[in-house]
Amino acid sequence: MAEQFDVVVIGAGPAGYHAAIRAAQLGLKTACIDAALGKDGKPALGGTCLRVGCIPSKALLDSSHQYENMLHKFEQHGIGFKDASIDVAKMVARKDGIVKQFTGGIAQLFKANKVTAYYGFGTLHVNAGQPGNVVKVKQHDGTEVELKGTNVIIAAGSDSIELPFAKFDGEAIVDNVGALDFTETPKRLAVIGAGVIGLELGSVWKRLGAEVTILEAMPEFLAAADAEVAKLAAREFKKQGLDIRLGAKVSKAEVKAKGKKKEVAVTYTDDKGAEQSLVVDKLLVAVGRRAATKGLLAEGTGVQLNERGQVVVDEHCHTGVDGVWAVGDCVRGPMLAHKGFEEGIAVAELIAGLPGHVNFDTIPWVIYTGPEIAWVGKTEQQLKAEGVPYKTGTFPFAAVGRAVAMAEPVGFAKVIAHAETDRVLGLHLVGPNVSELVHEGVLTMEFSGSADDLARICHAHPSLSEAIHDAAMAVDKRAIHKAN
Ligand code: FAD
Ligand code: NAD
Repeated sequence: MAEQFDVVVIGAGPAGYHAAIRAAQLGLKTACIDAALGKDGKPALGGTCLRVGCIPSKALLDSSHQYENMLHKFEQHGIGFKDASIDVAKMVARKDGIVKQFTGGIAQLFKANKVTAYYGFGTLHVNAGQPGNVVKVKQHDGTEVELKGTNVIIAAGSDSIELPFAKFDGEAIVDNVGALDFTETPKRLAVIGAGVIGLELGSVWKRLGAEVTILEAMPEFLAAADAEVAKLAAREFKKQGLDIRLGAKVSKAEVKAKGKKKEVAVTYTDDKGAEQSLVVDKLLVAVGRRAATKGLLAEGTGVQLNERGQVVVDEHCHTGVDGVWAVGDCVRGPMLAHKGFEEGIAVAELIAGLPGHVNFDTIPWVIYTGPEIAWVGKTEQQLKAEGVPYKTGTFPFAAVGRAVAMAEPVGFAKVIAHAETDRVLGLHLVGPNVSELVHEGVLTMEFSGSADDLARICHAHPSLSEAIHDAAMAVDKRAIHKAN
């Protein structure tokens, strides 16, 4: 006899666990199913984000940043030391501890909120002729259970895209999972794809001593970011020794034995059309992610997948099939944990009869490199293409007292406002701690604020946020700390 739930969530990543917890908070009887296992072979909730994405990558970014500071920044503060060393295994073990803490934390939150967790692979079946839908779960112990859900929320997430000529072997050719778990710094690392993962994990291993070459197919660097931000970031990454080759079309990656180890011979065509080759110890393929919808739907559910394998949904994350919703990386929109959080909450609230909503115009983007890159809203390129009249104000961190005191003067804040209404249309940042600062732009845009509003809000001195304050004033050529 199938147990009946108000809500059955498939997937306990950021989108799924938010949906499940919010639904339970709203008094709905909720189950959440997840198939993933942690490094210890035990079920681990939290999805890509907590197991092999956001959190472990930030743990290694922080560890490697501390090491880099020690090597290159301490001296100017007058701090000396005798020997710097890295214990990669210890660094990775620290990362694993953080993952365990947070994945275990989701299990605790499920208990506290009375969400019933099922560990196994869920497949959606339509319950013909009867209300509700059925999800069959193949549990890890080999048994199968059937759950009935008046509502089913699909939150199956995404997997790495594999290139046909560079199949993951988990050792020499890896995706994010392997690159978060190297047991020592590879001497030579090649990365295919200068996107977010390529830049973040490329930075980790560069800081820890690898020679890193990033091969990017597109001729333009970080095309989604504001062009001025991308230009400064490219300059800084080059200074750090990240070798980013644009317009590089990779055609082959051959794994060869090298003593007891392996190496990879990578062949690509460069931006001038000449064939090039590169031999490395590890190859990280980071060319995007694909919705993880394989095996998710039984025949005849009526839930549609598009050509990219994503579940087709409307603006309320509804699939068009009675009681079936989908959220997070497995549907359209940016593949970001916080986008999934908001969709999960919105759907739970819609199910409970509340007005759930996600504003796609104010989703922040952050790239956790050094310097950090963050933005919200439109870029100048987008506004030009859309024919929207705009004005901009920029302000460099080099003129911000706090940034200079921190020895972090690189980067700037740029406010873009509508030329006629002054409404803020975008905030673009590159520099120290901008992953935190970007929320000033998110809040301003959520409240339909203007550059003048931002300029008239009192900002603490000395603080990094003063870059945004002066940039807002610069929109009307009245920045105090620079010539306008
Ligand atoms: P997922 O996190 O992928 O979770 C889906 C879960 O569903 C998984 O646990 C999976 O096992 C389970 N599942 C799938 N199908 C089934 C099924 N049929 N039955 C049962 N269970 C199933 N985003 C950010 O916003 N900030 C970052 O800093 C960031 N860093 C990242 C770094 C890396 C290296 C990577 C790879 C990604 C990063 N992301 C980041 C992206 C972020 O991880 C994803 O956007 C987010 O995890 C998507 O959440 P989700 O819940 O939709 O899917
Ligand atoms: P991405 O889309 O950010 O970047 C992929 C890059 O690979 C692009 O620049 C693309 O032009 C390039 N590319 C594609 N095919 C190629 C080929 N054959 N040869 C060379 N280059 C090629 O994807 P990603 O870096 O794999 O990250 C996946 C997702 O994870 C992203 O959508 C991102 O939103 C999310 N993520 C977010 C964060 C963050 O928010 N800080 C961090 C990591 C990942």
